[in-house]
Amino acid sequence: MKIIMLGAPGAGKGTQAERITAKYNIPHISTGDIFRANIRDNTPLGKKAKSYMDKGELVPDELTCDLVTDRISKDDCKDGYILDGFPRTIAQAEALDKALEKRGESIDFAIDIEVPDEEIVHRMQGRRFCPKCGATYHIESLKPKVEGICDKCGTELILRDDDKPETVKHRLSVYHEQTQPLVDYFEKKGVLKKINGTIGLENVTAEISKVLG
Ligand code: AMP
Repeated sequence: MKIIMLGAPGAGKGTQAERITAKYNIPHISTGDIFRANIRDNTPLGKKAKSYMDKGELVPDELTCDLVTDRISKDDCKDGYILDGFPRTIAQAEALDKALEKRGESIDFAIDIEVPDEEIVHRMQGRRFCPKCGATYHIESLKPKVEGICDKCGTELILRDDDKPETVKHRLSVYHEQTQPLVDYFEKKGVLKKINGTIGLENVTAEISKVLG
């Protein structure tokens, strides 16, 4: 099962992808997480990606596409995977198609989690991030057991630089311009499934499970 999670930043792609991963036992591949891990490890890729991410811009396609096409050719992706945050441009979607075609494969589902912009801005301000292990929480809807502390590794949680209000607004405009056209792209391929992302975490998971079967 090859699944793409679409939706604005903060729509819940990552949280839902984690749940699907646990249920179907397929890898969760988040390009945002890969870039953040590279930033933590201070790699050359991390240094390049950081300058774009801090401004709320997309990391250039040439740094992103090979990363994903290499990752999905690994052994653990044989039975499928969930791509979270990729593709984010038409060029990325085309690069993915090409890589899949070579292997006679295609995407099974593109799940678009729809959330209005005002709700996104509200959500992102409440989002908290663990700078050590990358886990994500929310001060209202996904609280850690101890306020401000990561459940998984005990580190103090922070507001990600790119979740700050000015950057969120910019990320949303980048999303509408460059990523939203993918909704039509996958609709034309007949794999698009729209999910209302405002019905609560559990209900969104239930709707996605219905779609995946
Ligand atoms: P995310 O955690 O998916 O919201 O991604 C955080 C940031 O990483 C984005 O705002 C982009 O700067 C960068 N990023 C993640 N995925 C991609 C992608 N597919 N293409 C370009 N930039 C990306």
